[in-house]
Amino acid sequence: MSNSLLAEIDPFVCAEQKRYFSGQLSIKELPRLLEDVLASEALLDIEFQFFKEQKNIIITGRISGELMLQCAACLEPMSFPVDIQVGLAVIRDQSLMDYVPDSYEPCVVEDRCLQLSSIVEDEVLLTLPIIAKHDRCINDLPHTSASKDFVVEELEVKENPFEVLKNLKH
Ligand SMILES: [Zn+2]
Repeated sequence: MSNSLLAEIDPFVCAEQKRYFSGQLSIKELPRLLEDVLASEALLDIEFQFFKEQKNIIITGRISGELMLQCAACLEPMSFPVDIQVGLAVIRDQSLMDYVPDSYEPCVVEDRCLQLSSIVEDEVLLTLPIIAKHDRCINDLPHTSASKDFVVEELEVKENPFEVLKNLKH
């Protein structure tokens, strides 16, 4: 069975035709995620809708499922639920960034060629913690200089301006 989420599509044609894609992707089909997750048989549920809004090519969608990450403190698996609302405006190159409507994030597509699975990889990678750790871990990190480094990194993630913008939009 061919998976249209892995096919190369033309977002401009898809928007004209108001194409809707739905299906599942296995982590095995998302190479950029593979090294960050434990159970590679995990499946993500995917929906994407293409349409035009004024002159903009818009892709909205949802990525949901559950990934298994490895806790950095106890090295045991931890469940990481994923539920991402996608709202993208397609542009042909970075110079058109100013034309992206406020309510969408830019998605640069050169050569009219886009793989939906690569959007899934980008979006999920943005939500993954740099250091995965149980909320209440049985094996809390000792207070060494190394653990301070972890804390600093976690704070930086929380203050990432893109993440803040993303949260505001929801
Ligand atoms: Zn743990």
